Amino acid sequence: MATTLQGAPEQTRNSGEGLFVPDYVFVEPAALDYPLGQELYRRYQKEGVPIQMTTSHNQVRGIPGETDVEKYRNAKRTLVIGVRKTLKFEPSKPSAEYALPLATGCVGHCHYCYLNTNVGTRPYIRVYVNTDEIFAQALKYMQERPEEITRFEAACTSDPVSIEHITGNLKRAIEFMGQQEYGRLRFVTKFHHVDSLLDAKHNGHTRFRFSMNADYVIRHFEPGTSSFERRLEAAGKVARAGYPLGFILAPLYRFDGWEAGYSEMLERLSEQLVPEAMEDLTFELIQHRFTKIAKNLILQRYPKTRLEMNEADRKYKWGKYGKGKYVYPDQQAKALQHHLEAEIARLFPKARVEYFT
Ligand code: SF4
Repeated sequence: MATTLQGAPEQTRNSGEGLFVPDYVFVEPAALDYPLGQELYRRYQKEGVPIQMTTSHNQVRGIPGETDVEKYRNAKRTLVIGVRKTLKFEPSKPSAEYALPLATGCVGHCHYCYLNTNVGTRPYIRVYVNTDEIFAQALKYMQERPEEITRFEAACTSDPVSIEHITGNLKRAIEFMGQQEYGRLRFVTKFHHVDSLLDAKHNGHTRFRFSMNADYVIRHFEPGTSSFERRLEAAGKVARAGYPLGFILAPLYRFDGWEAGYSEMLERLSEQLVPEAMEDLTFELIQHRFTKIAKNLILQRYPKTRLEMNEADRKYKWGKYGKGKYVYPDQQAKALQHHLEAEIARLFPKARVEYFT
């Protein structure tokens, strides 16, 4: 049985700098059929965190709070230990073929986060204990594409590094993919808690990405995550551990002085990043976008946010199934893309920009 908390560093409540400790724990009975479920149950019982049973990890009732905002905040401090029953993986274009479902929900409070709508009324943190079944399913997907690389994205519905000290699932996934000739893993994080992953047998099959942004965006819109410096320091450790490294610059946001702000961020990155990281480095560029539903939820949950979401200033981009989103008008988006790509070429001549979207 794995003991994922042994030797864990400092723990604090509700801060990106320390490790997340839940205020409330819910457990699905079926999770106790798995060693990891039993281990987590015993751990939180010993630590005196209130534990309740729940019939389904999709319908947790009883998270305290008088108002919706209070309930939302408490949900973000609630851990739900469950079994992933749906083993149909979602597609994850453009960065991978499939999403690898290890967890759902995140302890961070980024105002613009896609999880605001993605997990809607269930913002609690769900971790899955049946990893062997999840990996067996990943293997099936790989077998459907013989002799072709299949990429799995482990950060589609969560920030897996922020909860790794709880389950150890990310390390398991990295080592599983390290053994697959045609399997590759990718994930992205805004957290610096990477130490337990440095000795994983990754075999170069996992691209470890950090989400970075201009100081203005991190300061105003990313509470509850690690600072720029901590992320950068963690990126150095990861590169030295031989992982292929990447940066996702998202959301690219046009604040006053954005050109100078993004240049400064990239300059700091290039000056401080260890040389090992430069050899196999990727960038992914994603402009800020929002939907009407997301805007309403963000304004409800973070009423003082300065995040600019004025539909009249944006272009409506139709998506699949008639669901669209607001992005920057073409000229503004192009200006973002050109500036970022030019600065990356200047400062990271060997790096590859995978896409701008
Ligand atoms: Fe969302 Fe990522 Fe921020 Fe977590 S760290 S709240 S997943 S944007």
